[in-house]
Amino acid sequence: MVMPMHSLYGHYEARRRLARAVHRDKLPQVVLISGPAGVGKQRLALWLAQLLLCERPETEPCRDCRSCRLVEGLSHADLHWIVPILRPKASDPEKQVEEATESMASVLAERRAQPLYAPPEGMASHGVASARVILRRAVMTPVEARKKVFIVGEADRLVPQESSQEAANALLKLLEEPPADTVMILTTVDPNRLLPTVRSRAAPLRLGRLPDEEVRRFLEQVLADSVPAAKRESRTRRAQGSIGRAFQDEDEAATKARRLGQAFLEAVLERNALKQFERALSQNPWSARGDFTAMLDAVADTLNDAAREALGHEPVGEVPRVLRGRSPEALAKASTDVRATRESAQGNVNPQLLIASLGALLAETL
Ligand SMILES: [Zn+2]
Repeated sequence: MVMPMHSLYGHYEARRRLARAVHRDKLPQVVLISGPAGVGKQRLALWLAQLLLCERPETEPCRDCRSCRLVEGLSHADLHWIVPILRPKASDPEKQVEEATESMASVLAERRAQPLYAPPEGMASHGVASARVILRRAVMTPVEARKKVFIVGEADRLVPQESSQEAANALLKLLEEPPADTVMILTTVDPNRLLPTVRSRAAPLRLGRLPDEEVRRFLEQVLADSVPAAKRESRTRRAQGSIGRAFQDEDEAATKARRLGQAFLEAVLERNALKQFERALSQNPWSARGDFTAMLDAVADTLNDAAREALGHEPVGEVPRVLRGRSPEALAKASTDVRATRESAQGNVNPQLLIASLGALLAETL
């Protein structure tokens, strides 16, 4: 079933600037939208695509013409939403392009059914096959409209040069001089993560966090059924201007992190079980870096709770049996070790390696 996309919330100044540029026919052909996670960068890109393809555009897309409705159903033939995908398995370039096309289509099918999507898997990227998909579609004439619009979400994951310098060069050339009927909208959390050669070819548009009232409005209008009124206020505050954060069920995520954290501590304290835990982790790669840091936070919280309990205070959360009867000093030091590891987890470090070294450290401390 196709669910219509939710409306765009906030970013009124950005919309005004974009609409003015579209009406004066002055919109740069390559635009880079950046801003915090979950504030609606790709949703704004879709809004801009809708405005460009609308049959009766004014300062907003009409949301009623055939084009507008096709865009909202993610099925306009001239809208190319390029999403990060896992690397195709085939070795033949032609087969890779086919596989990439299918992967993208299945992600879009999911988004048609559920327009509120979670961030893509950590391993998903725009590799050489995706670059070839873009290059092929860029030379086609538009099917329905006079223009074609490409949205490249998470453009910092653009890495075609990893396996083909040729595709990377062709993509850069395309960004430098797109066909006259083509607009490319890239989005990223941080423009500095983009290849400088890509960044320098795009006109930047920076988005800020949304005001609380926009997040509140989103929760009321889109998630009224799943988030009870009593919880909307705390969700709004926790969201810090990010609709993406507002719709994530963090209670569920926190419970999962806590469970995983306890399994880790148990593995550490049973000494020889750590290898087993590492193996289990390597078979179940982190879908997002956020999950990993959430687990480390949960481990530190659990250790703090145990230290509190050891000092005769009431712990905030449950303390696993393996941590009972240990010295508060050791528990506090272990918690500090975990926080230090969490700091390094911000960088580009392999989670499996961090887990192994943290496990060894904690086994010594506790
Ligand atoms: Zn329209």
